[in-house]
Amino acid sequence: MTVDPDRNGKQVGFIMIPHSPHDDAWGVTRIPIAVIKNGEGPTVILEGGNHGDEYEGPITICDLIRELDPGQVQGRLILMPANNVHAVIAGQRTSPVDGLNFNRTFPGDPRGTITQQISAFITDHLYPIADAFIDLHSGGSSLDIIPSAIVEPTTDPGLHRRNLAAVQAFDAPMTVVISNLGEPRTATAAACLAGLVTVGTEMGGGGTVSLEALEVCRRGVRNVLAHHGVLPLDEIEPRRQDGQVLELPGTSAYVFATADGIFEPLHSNGTRVSEGQPAGRIHFTWDPTRPPETLHYAADGILYGRRQPGRVRPGNCCLVVAAPYQGSLS
Ligand SMILES: [Zn+2]
Repeated sequence: MTVDPDRNGKQVGFIMIPHSPHDDAWGVTRIPIAVIKNGEGPTVILEGGNHGDEYEGPITICDLIRELDPGQVQGRLILMPANNVHAVIAGQRTSPVDGLNFNRTFPGDPRGTITQQISAFITDHLYPIADAFIDLHSGGSSLDIIPSAIVEPTTDPGLHRRNLAAVQAFDAPMTVVISNLGEPRTATAAACLAGLVTVGTEMGGGGTVSLEALEVCRRGVRNVLAHHGVLPLDEIEPRRQDGQVLELPGTSAYVFATADGIFEPLHSNGTRVSEGQPAGRIHFTWDPTRPPETLHYAADGILYGRRQPGRVRPGNCCLVVAAPYQGSLS
C-alpha cells in the first residue's frame, strides 16, 4: 500500500497486489485508495466500484477525495472509489480477469484469484482499523432501483440499532433492509461481522449515471459522515424523509422470469402493488402463435426495482417489491 493509514493529512495512492497475467509477468493490480486523517476520531471506510457498472458512489467518493481538506475531518476517512478495479475499468458488474462477482467473495482468500485477494485485503487489513463502513452501490446494468439507503441485517442487536441510525441519517428517498436472501459473502455482511457500523445504498442503476441519484448520494454520504462525527454536525441537512423502513420480504419480493422471451413490465417503480396481481408479461415475438405468459407479484408492497434489458431468460430477476419492515426498529 502506498499510503500510510496512520499519517495525518491527505494521501492518495494505491493498494498494489502482484498480478502476473500473460502480458505482464511482474505487474500489479492497483486499487486506488485515499486516506484523509486529522487527529483522533472514528475511522470510516467508503467503498465504490464494488461492481464496475454502478457509478454514483465512485463519483461521490472521488469528489470527496478532491474536495475535503484534512482540517475539515475529525478522525479518518479511507476512500476507495474503485475496489473491483478490473470490473470498474471494464464497466462490468463482474471482474473480466477471473469472472467473479466481488460482492460474493468476502471474506476473501489471500491465496485465491485477484478478486478474492482484493476482498481478503479489505477484510484482513482495513476492516480491523475501522469503525464504520459505507458501501455505495447502484442497480447496475440489469436493474433500475429507487434510490435508497440499505440496512444490512445483523444478529447483534446493538449493532443493528447503530446501523439503522446511520442508514436513516443518509436520508435517502427509501430505507430498505436487504439480506440478499441471507447471503454472507457481501462486503456489508463481512463488515457487520467485523463489528463496523454499516450503511449500504442502491442508487438508481440501469448502467447509467442518474442526476437524481447522484444528488441523493452526495448529500447522503455527507449526512452519514457528519452522523459519525467525522465531518462537522452542521453538515447534516434537515431531514427530507419520514424515516419509514421497508424490507425485501424474502423470495416473495422477487418476480423471476419463467420463460425465454421479452419482458413487458406493467407498472413503474414506486407503484403500490399486491400479491397475486399481474406484474408483467413475457412475449415471444419470434412466434406470434404463442400467447404471452403472465407473471404475478408474490408480495404486497411498493415496486422497488425493475429489470432494464427487455430480453429475459428463465430465472432472470424482472421485478423487486419492498414491503414494510417487520423487524425491530429499536
Ligand atoms: Zn452493486
